[in-house]
Amino acid sequence: MKKYYLIIILFVASCFSIFPAFAQNIPGKGDIAIVIHGGAGYIQRPNLSPEQEKDYRAKLEEALKAGYEKLDQGASAEEAVVAAIQILEASPLFNSGVGAVLTEEGKAELDASIMNGADGSAGAVAGVSRIKSPILGAMAVKDQSPHVMMAREGAEKFAETQGLEMVDPDYFVTDKRIAQWERMKKEQLEKAEGSIKNWEDTKMGTVGAVALDRNGNIAAGTSTGGMMMKKFGRIGDSPIIGAGTFAENESCGISATGHGEFFMRNVVAYDIAAKMKYQNISLFQAANEVVIQKLKKIEGAGGIIGLDQEGNITMTFNTPGMFRGYMNKKGKPVSMIYGLED
Ligand code: ASP
Repeated sequence: MKKYYLIIILFVASCFSIFPAFAQNIPGKGDIAIVIHGGAGYIQRPNLSPEQEKDYRAKLEEALKAGYEKLDQGASAEEAVVAAIQILEASPLFNSGVGAVLTEEGKAELDASIMNGADGSAGAVAGVSRIKSPILGAMAVKDQSPHVMMAREGAEKFAETQGLEMVDPDYFVTDKRIAQWERMKKEQLEKAEGSIKNWEDTKMGTVGAVALDRNGNIAAGTSTGGMMMKKFGRIGDSPIIGAGTFAENESCGISATGHGEFFMRNVVAYDIAAKMKYQNISLFQAANEVVIQKLKKIEGAGGIIGLDQEGNITMTFNTPGMFRGYMNKKGKPVSMIYGLED
């Protein structure tokens, strides 16, 4: 009975867009930690069948374990971030790699970035369609070039020279995304643009990971297909260092998901780190000030995951749900989807 009340409250709230925001803050435990997300959005319990829910949780936990295993073996935070993100990129459940959303022209154009908090090195690719693992493309830009961001065909040519696996652009396009694209095209034609008819159209399934390794180094990465029906080579916040991704040992590592235009204009990932340093406040407080107090007010829907050098973890979002999870020393992988979890 309680469950039904909750569903009614959330439904009414959604009609008036007065959703509560959520901040899940996990105090640091142990010397290594990883936190991941699989996108924020209007994800509510009635939207997912028990089987779908199980699939999402299983994939999140698989990614957490892959990242954690690296950390446990003494690998670097960035290796852990890549390991976790690659699992999510290969899964059609999320909006990154296989299963990415489609542009208005019906193509998958992918963005990714990674940053190392130990030395401030960073790499990103934007609008790419042939690099099998965009996060590996971002790593290659970071480690093998003097640049931070490469875009479109140029980034692909570079990835090829680095021996990265290349695929046909169709590799990323799933039947489910084609059906979603066709439905949205039809709605546009019927001048129903803007009306939210299907929860999946508002789900921002970008993926990201932030890790802390044994040497006290933090790394953060993000990988996405961007926003459904994006136009004219639109690039979002995910490949932009400081907006969608940021890492700095002295403050924190952050990976964001949400309506990218708001995250770019508000330099969200860096803003959280800067607040910690200049205002001398905790990760939890900084994330709250940016994602809940600032973004929510201007209807910048989305969320972030982050951690600091003490292994304190935050998963803060101003949407009804966010696919997410974390794992730290002595812990089991914990996966979550909805704002309120039992
Ligand atoms: N932030 C991404 C973008 O705007 C979308 C997402 O997080 O789902 O491209």
